[in-house]
Amino acid sequence: MIFIKSDSEIELIKISGQVLGKAHGEVAKWIKPGVTTLKLDAIAEEYIRDNGGVPSFKGYNKFPASLCISLNDTVVHGFPTQYILKEGDIISIDCGVKLNGFHSDSAYTYPVGEVKPEVMQLLRRTKQSLFMALEVAVEGNRVGDIGYTIQTYVEKFGYGVVRELVGHGVGRNLHEKPEVPNYGKRGNGPKLREGMVLAIEPMITLGNRAIVQERDGWTIRTNDRKQAAHFEHTVAIRKDKVEVLTTFEYIEEVTKNTSLMVGV
Ligand code: MG
Ligand code: MG
Repeated sequence: MIFIKSDSEIELIKISGQVLGKAHGEVAKWIKPGVTTLKLDAIAEEYIRDNGGVPSFKGYNKFPASLCISLNDTVVHGFPTQYILKEGDIISIDCGVKLNGFHSDSAYTYPVGEVKPEVMQLLRRTKQSLFMALEVAVEGNRVGDIGYTIQTYVEKFGYGVVRELVGHGVGRNLHEKPEVPNYGKRGNGPKLREGMVLAIEPMITLGNRAIVQERDGWTIRTNDRKQAAHFEHTVAIRKDKVEVLTTFEYIEEVTKNTSLMVGV
């Protein structure tokens, strides 16, 4: 069943989303060549716990860390390691916070220093596809309208839309119904109703959309080893305009006018 949240529940998710947004901002300050991905995880976990939250991902199905850190050809579910960031990498940071009983979930992909123009475009357009999806995430539309919007925009550029991983409802559980695919048909799928809270999260590949899972049991990468990007917001469905419950504001305070910036 799809849970409809009350305004007070949505307010709690927004508070969780603020802590999450600020944790992302703290992590953004450390993204540069020479830094290990384990360091980024430590920064996020400390910030979340210092602010009364719990990292949603740590221990979830035995996931080992607070952040999913997915580099280059990794689409999602990579984990922090001793890997040292280098110029030309792209890094997706996906994080969840549980606070006052409610989760929020948000992801952002950064260029580390100078990256190839085609890769930079992938980041911008994936972010843009999320913003376009937010425009149609209103009461009366359907889940398929979200996927259709993302898919038709990014496929114009020859990109791949990952099929096996999808967005989802968010609330007392990190993953709730409905599934929110990044592909779909207009007018298909469950109807969007005011009070639904969804994580919308395009996962877009520069090449073919086929993915494989590494032997570590977590890391999902592109089969053709081309780059992938991932942006995610947790949002509440409203009558006329979506209410975004997570925020990139704190990321963008840090990245503005730097090589980390992903403008759209
Ligand atoms: Mg996420
Ligand atoms: Mg998610």
